Amino acid sequence: MQFKRTISCGLVDSTLVNKTIDLCGWVHRRRDHGGLIFIDLRDRSGIMQLVFNDAFSKVAHEDAHKLRSEYVICVSGTVVERSAQTVNNEIPTGKYELQVTALTILNKAKNLPFMLEEDNVDEELRLKYRYLDLRRPEMLHRLQLRNNVFFAMREFLQKQGFYEVETPLLTKNTGEGAREFLVPSRVNQGSFYALPQSPQLYKQLLMAGGIERYFQIARCFRDEDLRADRQPEFTQLDLEMSFINEKDIQTIIENLLNHVWKMVFGKELTLPFPRITWDQALADYGSDKPDLRFDLKIKDCTSLFANTELKFLKSVLSNNGKIGAVHIEKHAFSRSELEGYVAKAQQMGAQGLVWLRLKDGVVESPIAKFLPTDFVEQIKTVFPTFAEDSTLFIVAGDYQDAWTILGRLRLQLAHDLNMIPQDEFNFSWVTDFPLFAFDKETKKWHSVNHPFTSPQDGWQTQDNSQMKARAYDVILNGVELGGGSIRIYNSEIQDKVFQILGLNKQEMQDQFGFLLEAQDLGFPPHGGIALGLDRLVMLMSNASSIREVIAFPKTARGHDPMMDAPTQVNPLKLRDYGLKLNEKLTK
Ligand code: ASP
Repeated sequence: MQFKRTISCGLVDSTLVNKTIDLCGWVHRRRDHGGLIFIDLRDRSGIMQLVFNDAFSKVAHEDAHKLRSEYVICVSGTVVERSAQTVNNEIPTGKYELQVTALTILNKAKNLPFMLEEDNVDEELRLKYRYLDLRRPEMLHRLQLRNNVFFAMREFLQKQGFYEVETPLLTKNTGEGAREFLVPSRVNQGSFYALPQSPQLYKQLLMAGGIERYFQIARCFRDEDLRADRQPEFTQLDLEMSFINEKDIQTIIENLLNHVWKMVFGKELTLPFPRITWDQALADYGSDKPDLRFDLKIKDCTSLFANTELKFLKSVLSNNGKIGAVHIEKHAFSRSELEGYVAKAQQMGAQGLVWLRLKDGVVESPIAKFLPTDFVEQIKTVFPTFAEDSTLFIVAGDYQDAWTILGRLRLQLAHDLNMIPQDEFNFSWVTDFPLFAFDKETKKWHSVNHPFTSPQDGWQTQDNSQMKARAYDVILNGVELGGGSIRIYNSEIQDKVFQILGLNKQEMQDQFGFLLEAQDLGFPPHGGIALGLDRLVMLMSNASSIREVIAFPKTARGHDPMMDAPTQVNPLKLRDYGLKLNEKLTK
């Protein structure tokens, strides 16, 4: 079929008045007044109004009666100015219309499973017909924004001397960190590749290869139980540099994000981003990704209860626990609201939440009768602004557990009381992470970051729980945008870290022998970072989930409703891989 396109619909402007042009696109809306038919023609760039009338072309007018929503057409015609009363100021081309002299129907469309302009279409249906969903302007805009962000990143990094290098998707199952997707090898039956959780080891080995500055917009895979806003595959900006320290990586990322903001929003960010240590972030905000758009710090009020008679608090204190509180001022909560927070804290895993408020000059609290008469005065030593209509939300327990709950409560309260500015991009760095965390269930130490993260000086003489990592996370509005670290480049240190993680010599060799060997063959000092790009674009476009900024995402249960993946595989095909399904699964 012949067709021509001289310009995109949304770009028609005054320079084209009285000119003949050719447009292609989809029938967005149609108003058939018999003698006069109006069509809104849509393409990626926007909408242009077409007018069909016998006076312009009898044939085209005749054919235009057949047009339905989402037909794909091309038209020729003359651009004219609309009369003053019919100008549409809502769209950039609203002053003009096209008097159509020729129409070709390139393709028809049946009735769509949902109308493109409909709100609240079921997400599963949107994903099943994602190509229709992508025709909506808001989806197109998000993909456009995503493209602009990626382009700006590439542009910046190229100028800074980074090489874009691809790394394999079929890689080794090392078992570090999250669970991996496995890919059976047909050629080497019984053996499996793993899809990379990140290009971590490859990028370190690129530093061993002398690349010095690497980046990649990398796809990563994690076979985790999917939580609300996770995807089994996601995209990272991954980078690595040699002969640098923490500050160099952080500065590159600050300047990179600043460049992205300039190119996408025409705005500069305030640099450098504030830094807060992991210890401080936990103490003040109960989180390793504190939302710093509002203050509302957690305060330690253990001292107020030093002589308490309350059994629960007494036992917390005798187990070296702590008591912390969030102080909300000048707000009269109702009883049911307060009870609601108690229930929420319990859902968050708190054994209990105690509220305490000053109302009509009297302390009200479920524990009021256990408090000394001068308790308000005592409170003021910790919360100097405690006054009428002040409420304390108090949680007691193991320090890290209690503070994590207080951190979540802080967010919930700020959200409920509209304390969070909505039009702000608030960046910060969290630094000095612990190197290891103890897993109470497996009774093993694991790396807070990953096992290749360099310990900070002094670690040789410290307990595992005290050791700090040369690791840093970049936070945007309380969301972890990315994280990285300075790496171990010395095989002795690497060996010791693996030992703390419980690997014996054989396991080290089997899983990481190649790395230990590389570290003995002239490995330069290096470090890097990775930024979650789905999250970044989500925050930049104010989208409600990362699925909104990914062209073809999976559902929250890891399913692709469009292609219907994953699917079963013919058992004969499995035989080629030396695999057989267990009987329960073949039924
Ligand atoms: N590989 C790490 C991650 O994916 C990032 C890094 O350390 O560079 O989170």
